[in-house]
Amino acid sequence: MTDERGGKPSASSFNRLLNCPGSWQAEQHIPAEDGGSDAVTGTLIHDAIARQDIESLADEHRAVAYECIQIRDEIVRDFGGDPQAGQYFVEVERRIWWRLKLFSGQCDYVVIDGPRALIVDYKTGHVGAPPAERNLQLAAYALLISHEYGCDEIHVAIVQPRAFPRKSVSVYRWADIQAAEEAVTKMLHNAMAESPPRNAGEWCHYCRARATCPEAQSVVKHLVSIAETGELPATTPEEMAQLLDRANIAKRIAQTIFDQAKERMIAGEDIPGYRLKPGSKRKTIIDPNAVFTRAAERGITQEQFLGAVSVSTGKLKGALREQGLKGKAIDEAMEAIIDGLTEITETQPSIEKIK
Ligand code: SF4
Repeated sequence: MTDERGGKPSASSFNRLLNCPGSWQAEQHIPAEDGGSDAVTGTLIHDAIARQDIESLADEHRAVAYECIQIRDEIVRDFGGDPQAGQYFVEVERRIWWRLKLFSGQCDYVVIDGPRALIVDYKTGHVGAPPAERNLQLAAYALLISHEYGCDEIHVAIVQPRAFPRKSVSVYRWADIQAAEEAVTKMLHNAMAESPPRNAGEWCHYCRARATCPEAQSVVKHLVSIAETGELPATTPEEMAQLLDRANIAKRIAQTIFDQAKERMIAGEDIPGYRLKPGSKRKTIIDPNAVFTRAAERGITQEQFLGAVSVSTGKLKGALREQGLKGKAIDEAMEAIIDGLTEITETQPSIEKIK
């Protein structure tokens, strides 16, 4: 896989480099990867949004993409625009380089309105990003866009439908842009110093070095030593928070090891004691009309048949879109269709880190 970042730091890694200055150098000798399942899904969704080809996505990814667009359009309206009106210059997924090609950034969606700009960054995974007001990736984007277009009021936004909060917005004015330049320069200086320190944390999640990095592995070893005792030590809430941080890192490292082993086995490598278990097969009905006709021939009533059918709201929204509806109009039509005809079930709560 070619590295369009040219081996230079990219703004998307700046929050990690801030916490673990050594991670840029740690990744240097590790080839660019397709990424774990989160990264692959993220790329699919980002590409589909950029190409305006959401319908090509699988159901669950399509829902995330539409939520990204819906939240983004709310933010564009708050910025003072009409997302459908084409009143601004909009740029999508263009890589921009900083002076001397020191680093680059590829903003997902940028609106330019004279001296003002709005930058939106989609996060499609379950791991929430730092909020917009203290997000170094967005600070770097603000810097790049201010330099490229001469803007001095830059609104930056995180849109993350699967994490909390689903959106966060901040505004950079001229003094903030200058402070961002200082922060980014300092961070890059630290990352490019000789033997910069490495610190494991939740930011290991997207680091290519995570499967082999000694600092990340020491986190796993600590957890293994706890597991060997058979019970968790008595912990204060603060110690439990630290354990959760470590458990998150270990979970990600374990997933990386499984992903890489599977890739190698699919390529034909033997890994002693392990084999590729065939995937489970799922039968999907592709012609419900024909199935209904045959079921009716066997005495199944329409009511009984509909009782066995579940409706995909994503596909129903797709059908409304085909009728020419857009954005909010689709949601309103959908609400009118399903009003009073739904029930809400709730799964067990899960633990999420507060940023
Ligand atoms: S795996 Fe974690 S600790 Fe190791 S270099 Fe990457 S971010 Fe730093």
